Amino acid sequence: MVNSGSTANPFETAKRQVDIVADLLSLDSGMREVLKHPKRELTVNFPVRMDDGGYHVYTGYRVQYNMARGPCKGGIRYHPQVSLDEVRALAAWMTWKCAVVNIPYGGAKGGVICDPKHMSKGELERLTRRFATEISGIIGPERDIPAPDVYTDGQTMAWIMDTYSMLKGYSVPGVVTGKPIALGGSEGRGEATGRGCAYTIREAATHAGVRVKNGTVAVQGYGNAGSVCANILNDEQGAKIVAASDSKGGIYKADGFNPHALEEYKAKNGSVVGFPGAKAISNEELLELKVDILVPAALENQLTAKNADKVQAKLIGEAANGPTLPEADTIFFQKKITVLPDILANAGGVTVSYFEWAQDIQGYFWPLAEVNQRLERVMVQSYNDVHKIAVERKVHNRTAAYVLAIQRVAEAIRLRGIYP
Ligand code: GLU
Repeated sequence: MVNSGSTANPFETAKRQVDIVADLLSLDSGMREVLKHPKRELTVNFPVRMDDGGYHVYTGYRVQYNMARGPCKGGIRYHPQVSLDEVRALAAWMTWKCAVVNIPYGGAKGGVICDPKHMSKGELERLTRRFATEISGIIGPERDIPAPDVYTDGQTMAWIMDTYSMLKGYSVPGVVTGKPIALGGSEGRGEATGRGCAYTIREAATHAGVRVKNGTVAVQGYGNAGSVCANILNDEQGAKIVAASDSKGGIYKADGFNPHALEEYKAKNGSVVGFPGAKAISNEELLELKVDILVPAALENQLTAKNADKVQAKLIGEAANGPTLPEADTIFFQKKITVLPDILANAGGVTVSYFEWAQDIQGYFWPLAEVNQRLERVMVQSYNDVHKIAVERKVHNRTAAYVLAIQRVAEAIRLRGIYP
C-alpha cells in the first residue's frame, strides 16, 4: 500500500461528493442531512495479548452508514492510519457502491488501527477474534456483513466467522464474505475486485477511444485488486503492463513485463522493488507516466490538485477506494481523461460478496463460470447506466455514478418514510 498521498480528510471529501449531486438533483435539506450522516458508529478499545506475554490496547471502528436498501455491507481494514473519519468515508462509499451496482445492501465499513506487517499470525488472530466479539452485537447476516479490505483476507474472515458462530452456538457462514471456499466462500470472490475493474475498463475504453489491446498500463498498489486487474488486462485483453508499485516503491519497464511473474516476485521478496530488468520509480512518478491506462489500487488521496495536471493516462480505473480528490476530478474532466470512479470500478468485489451471501443463505453453490458471467453482466450494465447519465447530464462519470446511487438510496428512504 501507498502512503504518499495528500492528508485531505476523506469524510469531508465524501460529504462534498454528496453535496455536488444533491444540488444537481435538488434534494431537500432533510434528505441531504440524512445522506451526509452515518446512521450508527461503534468505537471499541480492547486489549490483545501479545507474543511477549504483555498486552496492548487497540482501537477499532464499525460504521453503518445507511441501511435503507438492505443490510449493511463493507470490509474491515487493518492499517496504522485508520481513523474514524476514514471509516465513515469508506462506509459512505460502500452505500453508494452497492446502489450503483443495484445490489440490495446498505453500506458499512470497519477498521482497526494496527500495523499488521509487524504482528505475528497469533497476534492477528487474537486481535481479530476480540474485535469480532466487540462488534458482534451489530453484525450478522441480516444486519451487517463484513468482508476483507486493506491488509485483511480470507483467513481474517474465517476467524470472524468462527468467533461469531461460537458466540451463537451454531455455524453462521453468511456473517462475512470473502471467506475461504471450504467455509462457504464463493468461487471467484478472490479475483472479483480486479476482474470487475478490468471489465469496466474494457467497456469504457471502447467509448473513450482508448486502446486496451497493446495499450500500456500502470498499476499503483500491487495487492489483491491491482495485481488481479493487471493479470486480466494482460491475459484476456492483450494490454501491456509497464509499471507497478507498492508501499516500498515502484518499477517501470517500457516494453512491458509478465504481471504473473511480478506477483510471484512480490510474494517471495515482499515488494515489487528490485524486479529484474525493470527501472526503479517512485509512487508519484508512476502516477505521471505516459501510459494509456492508470489503475490506482492503493489508498485514498493519491490524485490531487497538485499532480492531476501532470497525469498523462487517457483512462483511469479506480480499483482503490477514494484515490481521487474532487479538484483532480475537475482537472481530469477538462483534460478529457476518462475516470472510472471507485464506486463503479471496484464494485466487482462487493458484487461477488453479494453472490457469496446469497449462496450461503441458500446453501447452494455456483460454479466459477456462472459467478464470472453474472459479475460481467452486472459490471457491463452498471457501466452503461453510469455512462448514459454522464452523456445526458454532461457530467463526469463520478458525478453520474453518484446521481444513480443517490437517486436509488433517496428513493428507498422516501418510500420507507421517516420513523415514527
Ligand atoms: N472491501 C471491498 C470494497 O471496498 C469489498 C467489500 C465487501 O465485499 O463487502 O468494496
